Amino acid sequence: MNPIQMVDLKSQYQNIKSEVDRGIQEVLDTSAFINGPAVKRFQENLEKYLDVKHVIPCANGTDALQIALMALDLKSGDEVITTTFTFVATAEVIALLGLTPVLVDCDPHTFNMDLHALEKAITPKTKAIIPVHLFGQSCDMEFIMALAKKHNLFVIEDACQSIGADFIYSDGRKQKTGTIGNVGCTSFFPSKNLGCYGDGGAMFTNDDALADKLRVIANHGMKVRYYHDEIGVNSRLDSIQAVVLDAKLKHLDTYNLNRSKAAAFYSSAFAKSDKLTIPAVEKKSTHVWHQYTLQLHDSVNRDELIKHLSEKGIPAMIYYPVPLHQQKAYRDQRYKDGDFPISEQLAKTVLSLPMHSELTEEQLTHITNAVLEGIK
Ligand SMILES: *Cc1c(COP(=O)(O)O)cnc(C)c1O
Repeated sequence: MNPIQMVDLKSQYQNIKSEVDRGIQEVLDTSAFINGPAVKRFQENLEKYLDVKHVIPCANGTDALQIALMALDLKSGDEVITTTFTFVATAEVIALLGLTPVLVDCDPHTFNMDLHALEKAITPKTKAIIPVHLFGQSCDMEFIMALAKKHNLFVIEDACQSIGADFIYSDGRKQKTGTIGNVGCTSFFPSKNLGCYGDGGAMFTNDDALADKLRVIANHGMKVRYYHDEIGVNSRLDSIQAVVLDAKLKHLDTYNLNRSKAAAFYSSAFAKSDKLTIPAVEKKSTHVWHQYTLQLHDSVNRDELIKHLSEKGIPAMIYYPVPLHQQKAYRDQRYKDGDFPISEQLAKTVLSLPMHSELTEEQLTHITNAVLEGIK
């Protein structure tokens, strides 16, 4: 049995080695390292895959979120609502731009933003919402887009963990996460569902004018070389990363299917346990299982379980151990402990198991047996 890892990038690479190596060699041979044809090719293939008009590649997911916010021309003090139970980048860029992050709690079953709390958090200063499609399934975008329309708000989707997942409308129509709001943002960090071999990210939009603006901001605010119309940033996807992503994009649906199979294996093994709760699946989304996250009940000591798993060669991670409102950098007199009870509870009880496209039945059996033994 191969060693078990949270994400097994090495085994995945072995399976696409010839294609990736050939692509990287081509970049080396042509020396088109930045903005080469490989970036354009990947961009167009991703536009097709997502069925979106514009993909704007950039340097990482955090930049994608920042550039998206910069393109909306918000002013200091404007409020942007997001969830307290997410990776820090979502709120970080709001704060960095001098905007006010307004946090809301999450749903205890799906871990996604609590829609009732979102609606209640809207004030006359609210300008945008950043829903995070956490762990690989979509927030209720039908509800969020209707709410945004009613209050005249922008929607930036944080699709860093959900690439390939479909939102399913009430009438059954499907649309890829990240292509529904004004802008969608994703990350190609190596451990994401579509990851490169370094840093990378992209923005998605169907709005031509906004696409132009995002491109200009990502490129030093310049449309014509050395003429700067606005203050921008330098955020590029390089050609070597683009060939890796292009090779992997062809397999993304298979990778996500393998993740689903692993998740189904886990859930059927754990379904009967009264010591933990298996992750719930949103009715209005397909799930691409960026993470498989259990909630441990009070009778289980999480640290001891992690130690038990580790002794059996099984890594496990806590996503996320501290909600944003309890992070030192984001402590704020507006919020106190207890304000977001669901997120605070989750931070104490969640545990994510190894999840990637290369998990074998032998590995999954070893993991599920070890977990069941550890919670006995
Ligand atoms: C990974 C991630 C980001 C940031 O992406 P980077 O490429 O690491 O900058 C932002 N939001 C969420 C939810 C993420 O998981």
